[in-house]
Amino acid sequence: MSKQIQSIRGMHDILPADTAAWQWLEDQLRTVLQSYGYREIRMPIVEKTELFKRSIGEVTDIVEKEMYTFDDRNGDSLTLRPEGTASCVRAGIQHGLLHNQQQRLWYQGPMFRHERPQKGRYRQFHQVGVETFGIAMPEIDAELIVLSARLWKVLGITDVTLELNTLGSTQARQVYREKLVSYFTDHRGDLDEDSLRRLETNPLRILDSKNPHMQRMIEQAPALADHLDAESAEHFEKLKSLLDHLEIKYHINPRLVRGLDYYTKTVFEWVTSSLGAQGTICAGGRYDGLVQQLGGRETPAAGFALGVERLLELIKSSQEATHTFALDAYLLTMGDSTLEAGLKLAESLRSQLPTLRLQVNAGGGSFKAQMKRADKSGARFALILGEDELQAGQVSLKNLRDASEAQRSVNYEEALNILSA
Ligand code: ATP
Ligand code: MG
Repeated sequence: MSKQIQSIRGMHDILPADTAAWQWLEDQLRTVLQSYGYREIRMPIVEKTELFKRSIGEVTDIVEKEMYTFDDRNGDSLTLRPEGTASCVRAGIQHGLLHNQQQRLWYQGPMFRHERPQKGRYRQFHQVGVETFGIAMPEIDAELIVLSARLWKVLGITDVTLELNTLGSTQARQVYREKLVSYFTDHRGDLDEDSLRRLETNPLRILDSKNPHMQRMIEQAPALADHLDAESAEHFEKLKSLLDHLEIKYHINPRLVRGLDYYTKTVFEWVTSSLGAQGTICAGGRYDGLVQQLGGRETPAAGFALGVERLLELIKSSQEATHTFALDAYLLTMGDSTLEAGLKLAESLRSQLPTLRLQVNAGGGSFKAQMKRADKSGARFALILGEDELQAGQVSLKNLRDASEAQRSVNYEEALNILSA
């Protein structure tokens, strides 16, 4: 035997036993998104590397060290998308979806980041992303938040809190950034290696350092909230009041800065304490400058992305998510002439009852062997077509999940009625 080839570290197969939960979750998400009028968009998984450099930012963790980047056969630098917002904006500009109009869009699919794999952190993972364009007012920020809150409700997730902050306008952040650099420079001695690097490149990110030795010093750093421009401050007040009206609880976290460069004004994260270190299940905010930055006309925008694996982990134990794929019936054929008739009967049942989940025995086998397969298949009923039944225009029906119910022969019409019940 030659050596087996394994999947790539941090990239996982989703096996049949798990796909029912995925599909259930995807259905729930789609239903809620549609109930707010969001329409799905599907973008390619591979984009030009420059797209992510220009949007996420050259000095972010993602672009600096997490992207899967390669040259294709023409020598163009391409990247497996690490997130969806950049692609969505690119597609929106390219197809004229953004200028002078409002859009409410969503997408789903795999994202790729070369991170250290651990629970809740993979190299291929899945996001559902939601993006809105053309709406500058805080009611859309509120809509995104109330929509995500509804998702948790529908999914039965209760252990989740909303962290909220505002980053102000790009200009206000520039002024704040200088203050911050001068403060951190004065406290250079307290900075760890990562933070020293960020001091040059992305000083705001020092604020969300998890290093316990730096916490005191960070707490005393100038606060972004004291350097907000008037418009951003007003936007934030209005958002908070809308959330109050909608009875959405939030926790203002002045150190929530998010890892991507493109955010302005509102940023938020939904965090749970049930998943250990990987507790953020959903994150987003406003990014009014990004469309222009990627070559479009100035367009206000806001959105969020949620991590599907983390959500699944969170709802794993809940009733709703423990769906499994279940067959309604398993058809056995006994005798030489019954196989053709069985296949035809199955086709006819499927035509008349398109939602029927019916598996036909394949690969022969004794009655006992076929019954064993039928039982293992999880099907509710066994349909048995032997020579006698065939002659009589009937089929034997056995309830595999209720032994007290006697096996009986019924005609095809009755069988259909029972299966559709
Ligand atoms: P984290 O702080 O956990 O690294 P992030 O800020 O990098 O998250 P975003 O880019 O905002 O994450 O992505 C949105 C969501 O996607 C996250 O809140 C998380 O639920 C999920 N996510 C991000 N990276 C991963 C990953 N490597 N594996 C699984 N899920 C992820
Ligand atoms: Mg990350």
